[in-house]
Amino acid sequence: MEYSVFRKKVVLCGNAGVGKTCLVERLIQGQFNSKVKETIGTNTHDWSTKVENRQVVLKIWDTAGQERYLALAPIYFRGSAGAIIVFDVNDENYEQSIQQWTEIIRNTCGNDAFIILAANKSDLSESREHVLSITNKAFTKHKIQCVLTSARTGENVENMFQIMAENVACPESKSIIEDRRSGCLC
Ligand code: GDP
Ligand code: MG
Repeated sequence: MEYSVFRKKVVLCGNAGVGKTCLVERLIQGQFNSKVKETIGTNTHDWSTKVENRQVVLKIWDTAGQERYLALAPIYFRGSAGAIIVFDVNDENYEQSIQQWTEIIRNTCGNDAFIILAANKSDLSESREHVLSITNKAFTKHKIQCVLTSARTGENVENMFQIMAENVACPESKSIIEDRRSGCLC
């Protein structure tokens, strides 16, 4: 029996220090490494999962968020089927960072790229209500699904990448793809 594998590029972006590399480490290694090295340019990792009995491999591009790398964004982001914009829920300027990265993704990947907002470091916030209100606000304002994550505790990390896989893998029957994507990239 023929067994097709869907391979999709997904980019992780967001300001430096918000936890992008730790989220990937948590996903791939299953652990939290508080001493990860600063990302220089970009690193890629393959993560394999199943979506409706099909194998989906996400090629995850973990990028650096510093200003000096912004000029390279079009090169790193080109060809991405999806993007995860990571922000720190404890950062007072998170709204500005979401705005900036959403524009960069839309300008480089187009309107078809499926975006998820990752509200990371939920474990550091004292108030659960506060972080939930941030994710609700982000969803209402940007119309982008927002997931509360913690690379430290592992909260929602695998779940978030699974949601991404389901939305970029393009199984014809997937209801959550409806209205999000105009065509099949397979
Ligand atoms: P990046 O620059 O976005 O890749 O951020 P890193 O993954 O290098 O993480 C930056 C810092 O934030 C490191 O000191 C991590 O230990 C810390 N960090 C990352 N994710 C979390 C998290 O979910 N919770 C907590 N408490 N710290 C985190
Ligand atoms: Mg990094």
